[in-house]
Amino acid sequence: VNITEGYKYFQNVKFKNYEDEFIKLVKDGQSPKTMFIGCSDSRVIPSLIMNTRPGDLFVVRNIGNFVPPFKPDQDFHGTAAAIEYAVSVLKVENIIVCGHSHCGAIKAMYERDSMTTESLIHTKKWLELGLPAKEIVEKSSFTSSSDKLEMTEKASITFQLKNLLTYPEVKKSVESKELFLHGWYYHLESGEVEYYNSNKNSFLKISD
Ligand SMILES: [Zn+2]
Repeated sequence: VNITEGYKYFQNVKFKNYEDEFIKLVKDGQSPKTMFIGCSDSRVIPSLIMNTRPGDLFVVRNIGNFVPPFKPDQDFHGTAAAIEYAVSVLKVENIIVCGHSHCGAIKAMYERDSMTTESLIHTKKWLELGLPAKEIVEKSSFTSSSDKLEMTEKASITFQLKNLLTYPEVKKSVESKELFLHGWYYHLESGEVEYYNSNKNSFLKISD
């Protein structure tokens, strides 16, 4: 990938297609209706999956699409700050937590014990946010390791949704039906999305 060539193409060709929109978005400010919490994985591209325009999505991507629980202290909470801002200032109407197949973070949880803390000190700690999913999957039966990983990826999404509700402003807005939470599971190999149906406690194809 040649990044400079890519930038030149963007300036000369692509930006022109969006120029009027960007000028309007600067003049009026942004008012995205949806927050997207996805994995940093280079293969999970929110604007591509949802065919969105500039100004449509407020995006946070981190390793594993994790949501740390509400815990106000003096630490630097990037994801928590983004959630707060999206809900309290931008007043988004939807938050999508989007997990995906073949997630390196989920796989790494099974290798976490052998991780060295010298070079991966933050990563090892961060992966704790997926451990409840791993624990629940290890109690159930599965046929293959790929099934086990998919189950963990999906279970993790439901735990991140629970963590979202630990934010007082999120809980309040969900209860007053001003905010809706969604769990998505994106298949890298087919581009298909399944959504979490809480009544059935399972993931269903979005066309259903
Ligand atoms: Zn991932």
